[in-house]
Amino acid sequence: MSLRLLLICLLALLTPLSPATTPPEVRIGVLSHRGDEATLKNWSPTADYLSREIPEYRFVIVPLNFREIEPAVRDQTVDFLLVNPGIYVNMEVRYRITRIATLNNLLNGQPLNIFGGVIFTRADNDAIRELEQIRGQRFMAVDRTSLGGFEMAWQALSGVGIDPNEDTRLSFGGTHDAVVRAVLEGRADAGTVRTGILEAMTIDGASPLDRVRVLGERWSDEHPFHHSTRLYPEWPFSKLQHTTNRLARRVAIALLRMSSLEPAAQWGDYAGWTIPLEYQPVHDLLKELHLPPYDQPEQFTLADAIRKYWYWLLTALAFLAVMAVMTTWVARLNRALERSKGLLERQHNLILDSVGDGIYGVDLQGNATFFNRAAEAITGWKAQDLIGQNQHEKLHHTHADGTPHLPEECPVYHTFRDGQPRFVQEDLFWRKDGSSFPVEYSSTPLRDEKGHIVGSVVVFRDISTRKKAEEAARQYQAELAHVARLSTMGEMASGMAHELNQPLTAIATNADACIRLLEADPDARDRIIDVLETIGTQSRRAGSIIQQLRQFVRKEEPQLTWVDINQLIEEVLMLVQPEIDRAGIGVVRDLEPNLARVRAQRIQIDQVILNLVRNAIEAMNDSRVTTRSLTLRTRNQDGHSVLVSVEDTGPGLDESVRDKLFDPFVTSKPQGMGLGLSISLGIIDAHKGKLYYDGGTEGAIFRFIIPVSQSDAS
Ligand code: ADP
Repeated sequence: MSLRLLLICLLALLTPLSPATTPPEVRIGVLSHRGDEATLKNWSPTADYLSREIPEYRFVIVPLNFREIEPAVRDQTVDFLLVNPGIYVNMEVRYRITRIATLNNLLNGQPLNIFGGVIFTRADNDAIRELEQIRGQRFMAVDRTSLGGFEMAWQALSGVGIDPNEDTRLSFGGTHDAVVRAVLEGRADAGTVRTGILEAMTIDGASPLDRVRVLGERWSDEHPFHHSTRLYPEWPFSKLQHTTNRLARRVAIALLRMSSLEPAAQWGDYAGWTIPLEYQPVHDLLKELHLPPYDQPEQFTLADAIRKYWYWLLTALAFLAVMAVMTTWVARLNRALERSKGLLERQHNLILDSVGDGIYGVDLQGNATFFNRAAEAITGWKAQDLIGQNQHEKLHHTHADGTPHLPEECPVYHTFRDGQPRFVQEDLFWRKDGSSFPVEYSSTPLRDEKGHIVGSVVVFRDISTRKKAEEAARQYQAELAHVARLSTMGEMASGMAHELNQPLTAIATNADACIRLLEADPDARDRIIDVLETIGTQSRRAGSIIQQLRQFVRKEEPQLTWVDINQLIEEVLMLVQPEIDRAGIGVVRDLEPNLARVRAQRIQIDQVILNLVRNAIEAMNDSRVTTRSLTLRTRNQDGHSVLVSVEDTGPGLDESVRDKLFDPFVTSKPQGMGLGLSISLGIIDAHKGKLYYDGGTEGAIFRFIIPVSQSDAS
């Protein structure tokens, strides 16, 4: 055989022994939380299973500790990943890996695809009986990135207000077993591991379960193992982004088909695989704890805000629209109110200015707050001169007698104090030029809406003209009365002459008698003395009649004196004695002995009595009157006034004069002037008294009442 043939035969023999191509390697990264050796031991049979099921590939297990996982995924040094759900969610978010199956774990012979965390302490540690008591204690977890070995417990603890990072002395054991041992050996006060670890472990031939106390234990039908946290889906088997879907699908099918009796499952201590579960709860947990990948605040764009809060935005916009409408409406209303206010103010000022009386306002400090046009015209002050100034100092500072008018006596200030309106009939105000004028004024309190006094309004009127008119009327009245007295005297002149004649005749006769007596008997001394006494008496009588007459006709000064009315009556009777005698009238005097004196103008009251008495005499002069009696009565009344009655037995009032008795020029007498009663009424009125006709069954009764002092008049 040639060498060439030998080589061909050799090649033919070797060919079936060495494969034509080596199947490509598929690397499955597995979280090695219990050490690489254990990981390879547990998971290599699963890789072999897959290699068998998918012979085109050779599957190998790559154990990765917590820190090696991310670089492996990032650098695509593995094609599939079998890690806990927390790491999976991170890798899913960052490197878009996709779960294709979820592990059906076997815990103490039970298939379970959910798991949780258990928090525990040593059974003999009496200091920690509740989760809350972990605060401040040495707390050990597996690894900061371990879901079941830390993060689940963190969430459970934050539920009772404990942040294990801040509130405990936190340490990490690296593996579940290390945590269990540390707690049992007293190197940690409490610890946390994933569910099933405590049940599966044996330490020194005994289950650690007997030596631990589970804290915050929860119960679930789906998960009959000790746990202190919520439950989450088991480990996912996931494909990396670069791994083909075809391969992934074949791996998924192979995994789902795996029976729990498969040696791979038994080596891995699991029951098989299920379709991939929902890992959203894990996302939620990481979000809640602000853990990667949710440790950075999310970029929240305006669009996101609108999408998320559109209903709030809509409500806010609707609210703003309503507010805008309301604001416009309120603004319009405001403008209308402003206009009305301006109008009212103008009207108010117009009214104030159109009033003839002076009006000004005063605040509680006594300063003027407004001053109307009439007030300006009357006082000569301008509103701007007085507003804000003390009105009392400007207008009201001095009394008529020149003494200062103190503010505390000012009625305007009294109004502030007692809140009572006041009316002052006569006072004095001062003009800007220093002259004064008489005023009547009112001061009315001004109150705010709560009823508190905030000032007062003073309304005043210059009463100079009225006072002048009153004075003129008074003078006119006095003149009239004087004229009437002269006229009365004229009427009485003949009677008077007769009255005077009597004493004068008696004087003359008696003087003659004296002369004769002296001629006949120079020693007739005693008789002459008698006659001279008669002469003296008669001449005194004549003198007093003349005195009365003079007094009656003289013009009286307008001053008041204390007058005894009983005495006036006697004087009047003396004047009219001749008429009384001629008419044959009997005079009855019913005079109050202790009659009060009255403050009056003597001649005027004299005149009233004379008028009434003469009217009575004239009424009784009627030939039909048979009984002729004149009664004059005086009485004290209530101690404050005096009542005077003149009563006659004449025919009484004539019908024609009854209704207008006191009007001037009303008379029933042919020679009468009809002024007597009207003048008398004026006099009594001026004395604040009252003159009236009081009827009478027979004849007429006239009465007048006059106050003792005019300040007693009511
Ligand atoms: P005169 O006496 O000038 O008429 P008076 O004013 O004194 O004016 O009186 C007015 C009228 O009142 C009298 O004319 C008379 O009719 C009536 N009169 C007054 N007093 C009496 C009286 N005592 N009896 C009746 N009538 C009287």
